Amino acid sequence: MGIHEECGVFGIIGEMNPGIAREVYYGLCALQHRGQESCGIVVNDDGVFISHKDRGLVGEVFSENELNALPAGRMAIGHVRYGTTGGNSRSNIQPMVVAHQKGNLALAHNGNLTNSLELRDYLELTGAIFHATSDTETIAYMITRERLRADSIEQAVLGAMRHLKGAYSLIMMSATKMIAVRDPMGFRPLCYGKRPDGSFAAASESCALDAAGAAFVRDLLPGEMLVFSAEHPEREPVSYRDYCGGAASPCIFEYIYFARPDSAIDGIPVHETRVRAGRILAREFPADADVVVGVPDSGLDAAIGFAAESGIPFEIGLVKNKYVGRSFIAPSQGERSDTVRIKLSPVRSVLADKRVVLIDDSIVRGTTSRRIISLLREAGAREIHLRVSAPPFRHPCYYGVDIDSEESLIASRHGVEEIAAMIGADSLGFLPLGSLAEMSGCASYCSACFDGAYPGGVPADPRKDRFERRLTEVTK
Ligand code: SF4
Repeated sequence: MGIHEECGVFGIIGEMNPGIAREVYYGLCALQHRGQESCGIVVNDDGVFISHKDRGLVGEVFSENELNALPAGRMAIGHVRYGTTGGNSRSNIQPMVVAHQKGNLALAHNGNLTNSLELRDYLELTGAIFHATSDTETIAYMITRERLRADSIEQAVLGAMRHLKGAYSLIMMSATKMIAVRDPMGFRPLCYGKRPDGSFAAASESCALDAAGAAFVRDLLPGEMLVFSAEHPEREPVSYRDYCGGAASPCIFEYIYFARPDSAIDGIPVHETRVRAGRILAREFPADADVVVGVPDSGLDAAIGFAAESGIPFEIGLVKNKYVGRSFIAPSQGERSDTVRIKLSPVRSVLADKRVVLIDDSIVRGTTSRRIISLLREAGAREIHLRVSAPPFRHPCYYGVDIDSEESLIASRHGVEEIAAMIGADSLGFLPLGSLAEMSGCASYCSACFDGAYPGGVPADPRKDRFERRLTEVTK
């Protein structure tokens, strides 16, 4: 699949804790699927912010030594990143720490703004100097600007929210407070929980609360800000809901692909939504077949649903090599083997001479699907009926997910029959657009990458490298 995750945010606040960096590390490990380019942790040591961040997976960036070098603190926040705007330069690694006239601010962000260029123009024309090329620095500037006039950091954040458009789930830290914010449309998830020692944790997904030993309390509402106090760590967070009340548009693709199946988003367990997608596919696109096989990992839940609904047995027909990760060196063009062959292995005893229903979570360019189907054929599968637990991708995402431009999305240029022929499937069925509400249980949601209806608008310059391009244009 050619889609990359976005980012994951995490934070803990409570009494003075010598192991706080390690606990954030556990949370980030659970969020690793949301971003594998870089990561970081900032510990608040009585108002002094100490951080470690670098390119790489959480386990690569944080050795025992690095974790031990981070101090004790009452709060700490962390981030895992895949760059949806801004390059993979070191200056874009988060959490971002800024010093301003009234103190320090550390900020971890998931999502993309749709008006970041306009805000950046405004900020630069009034004296701001940017060091990074991501939206996050724009948000940090907007907050610190507001802070000059506001009585408190929470008032400054609320003031900044008036100007921010698009997708942002944020966890921030001032000298004495941890603040979690979800944008008014609730594009990206954000929740919080309570730990047995009375401390609180906030995270992109509930699976990270589990990893940090926190019991899930609830999701933040779209537009909600929660303020946790280090001076009164025993107090429940204070909720500000100045921006709640509009139509929520949580990302439907979190349920289909991004989120971990053991997470629940807005009260809806992700695993169950995927099983339902499989059931819907079995009803809408039945197939005469001997076995149902899911493409690991995120095709497995829907395969279980398809098997349950159709009565065709579910089998493990593809095994994923767990040890091929981000650092894997892909074969060169001239080499015969391909990446899919190294990452996935067919189970011949399951596939030989069988009519197979193959379940995958999406088709982007079609290259991966074609390779998987050819793997199954080589293992002896007689027929392959591909069922996809998402509608066809036809449009890019501007809200924090790296979905390609329309030209490279196979479904924006070809119909279902054509795609089936191109990838070598005997038949092909996509989850119908009209069944997303039944699949997710959400009353309203964003499905713009499937239907082109962008609930949060479209940026004036939608290119991923818009900041870099602008820099080049300015310095010409
Ligand atoms: Fe999610 Fe697609 Fe909407 Fe982006 S466009 S937020 S990936 S549903």
